[in-house]
Amino acid sequence: MPSEITMPQLSDTMTEGTVVKWHKKEGDKVKAGEEIAEVETDKAVMPMESFESGTLAVIAIPEGGKAPVGAVLGVIATGSEKVEDVKKGFKPGSGSAGKTEEAPKKAEEPKADAKKVESSSTEPAKPQAEAEKPKAAPQSTTPTPSKSHAIKSSPGKYQFDIVVIGGGPAGYAAAIRAGQLKKRVLCIEKENLGGTCLNWGCIPTKALLEDGNFVRKMRTEASHRGITFDNLQVDFSKIVGRSRGIAEKLSKGIAHLFKKYEVKSEFGTAKVLGPHKVSVTTKDGTKEITGDHIIIAVGAKTTPLPGVKFDGKKVITSREAMNLPTQPKKLAIIGAGAIGCEFADFYNSLGTEVTVIEMQDHLLPNEDEDVSILLERSFAKRGIDVRIKTKTDKVETTETGVKITLSGGKAGVVEADAVLVAIGVTGNADDVADPKSGLELFKGRVKVTPDFRSNLENVYSVGDCISLHWPEQSGMGGYRHPDLAHVAHHEAVQIVEMIAGHDVHGLDYKQIPGCTYTHPQVASMGYTEKKARETGREIRVGKFPFSVSGRALAAGESEGFVKLIFDAKYGELLGVHMIGEHVTELISELVMARKLEATESEIIEAIHPHPTLSEAVMEAAGVAAGRAIHL
Ligand SMILES: Cc1cc2nc3c(=O)[nH]c(=O)nc-3n(C[C@H](O)[C@H](O)[C@H](O)COP(=O)(O)OP(=O)(O)OC[C@H]3O[C@@H](n4cnc5c(N)ncnc54)[C@H](O)[C@@H]3O)c2cc1C
Repeated sequence: MPSEITMPQLSDTMTEGTVVKWHKKEGDKVKAGEEIAEVETDKAVMPMESFESGTLAVIAIPEGGKAPVGAVLGVIATGSEKVEDVKKGFKPGSGSAGKTEEAPKKAEEPKADAKKVESSSTEPAKPQAEAEKPKAAPQSTTPTPSKSHAIKSSPGKYQFDIVVIGGGPAGYAAAIRAGQLKKRVLCIEKENLGGTCLNWGCIPTKALLEDGNFVRKMRTEASHRGITFDNLQVDFSKIVGRSRGIAEKLSKGIAHLFKKYEVKSEFGTAKVLGPHKVSVTTKDGTKEITGDHIIIAVGAKTTPLPGVKFDGKKVITSREAMNLPTQPKKLAIIGAGAIGCEFADFYNSLGTEVTVIEMQDHLLPNEDEDVSILLERSFAKRGIDVRIKTKTDKVETTETGVKITLSGGKAGVVEADAVLVAIGVTGNADDVADPKSGLELFKGRVKVTPDFRSNLENVYSVGDCISLHWPEQSGMGGYRHPDLAHVAHHEAVQIVEMIAGHDVHGLDYKQIPGCTYTHPQVASMGYTEKKARETGREIRVGKFPFSVSGRALAAGESEGFVKLIFDAKYGELLGVHMIGEHVTELISELVMARKLEATESEIIEAIHPHPTLSEAVMEAAGVAAGRAIHL
């Protein structure tokens, strides 16, 4: 079937673009993934790559020609089609370019950028990735998953317009947005409003980390600043108590917002029985509730180590680790992702002997290598026993604690009061799907399309409990979903706005910022240097150390750097990698820069206030361009 190359939507405001250059002429062979043209928007010149292999049969818009978003720029003859037939069948301006007269009906499916997915039939929604493959896209952006979706609603037919299962950042954000949009909405939560994030994740851990850092600074840095004191005492239970208090306060805040936006809530365990039907079990029994739309937002739980059971005391999850009755003298942590590293930081700050065990090559293995290496050095300097490239062979509980046998990098036996297992999370979707519902799952997660639809009519899922099952995500390592509160939040708002009939923009999963609140902190977005090089693009890397930042020196926080990766040809920001104090705040500048498609020179030319840590961002871009002043 001929494959159309259409003018992509490169930014939210773009309505048309200019074809600056064709790298191929009619009759040339093209390979899938090959750069075939360059398109200019009001902001930048962007390369376009072909999604299909074949022969470029038609150039519909020549170099210098303007075309609206979605217009056909060219057609590729694929498979056994003859180039002449494709050319003959092409009707300029018809909007269905590339069809030959004999082309099968399937060629008339809507184009990626003019999507209208009807769910009005009783048939399960067809996975969009199957139905609509984008034909060409700029190399730099993930294909926008959703836009202008028609969703069938039946106002008044069911008890609620929207039933949300789960009251975490995905569920509560969905419920609040639905309330704001005047939907009759019910949120069912089996534990506490705020979910993992507010009660057992993001927030309570940050409270602990702040207190740990405070103690560490008093112990190790105060005297350098001329501050001395006697007999510093730390009350562990007060530190834990403060953290729990903040969690409780924020959970109550969600209840207040529910009231404000007229969101009804029910405390109980929900199950999806099928389209429009949910059961809720409370201590008073089980009842059925109907909703026009159902949003599943049930989150995830800690993945256990194979063959090792959690006992809540010696083999623990992050939940117990943030609420221990007494401070352990020795703590082992298996898994050095964000959660493992944050607990290592906290307990080390309070004086616990900490061992971190990581099977992969580095701490925070998904981060840029330069960042991970610096964190390893920093942890080692603080006395944390960092065991990378080390495999956990056995975990045994003993009378006094645990005994862990290790092989590989730093093999041996580690004994500790307890072991925190932090090797990842598994979706909670198994528990929410009634076996008769027919809800399709993948490894404990709800299988969804790019617009978060499950296989059941008007049943959607967002947040930590979903599995990304569309081909465009293969670049991020298959089905991996970034299990982060801000991702859950944005997915939730998006699906509710779609239900309400709003035009929405997809999430670019390649540009999700991620933060780790260790000391030094870590923040990143986009390609690591290694991944950027693997794409084959020519890149420029700029790295600016905080050791030459006046503000960082004045604050006594000069460890770390800002590293920015740009496309050498277009100055496009491809990757951001930062380590140092407050970088979890600095990253937002670059999130915005990326969203507004700011280039290297625009970052350099934006006036950053002095003295601030943010100057390191400007200077890192300057280093990449050979224009840095302070290095
Ligand atoms: C220790 C730790 C630290 C973290 N730190 C960060 C961080 O700094 N930044 C960040 O972005 N992310 C962080 N995360 C991840 C973040 O907490 C999650 O990505 C986020 O909470 C996901 O939101 P969610 O709404 O999808 O799921 P959850 O927050 O898990 O909420 C799901 C809710 O559904 C409820 N539920 C489950 N099943 C049912 C059912 N059958 N019926 C009714 N209710 C049900 C649960 O009780 C829960 O309240 C951290 C996680 C942990 C564990």
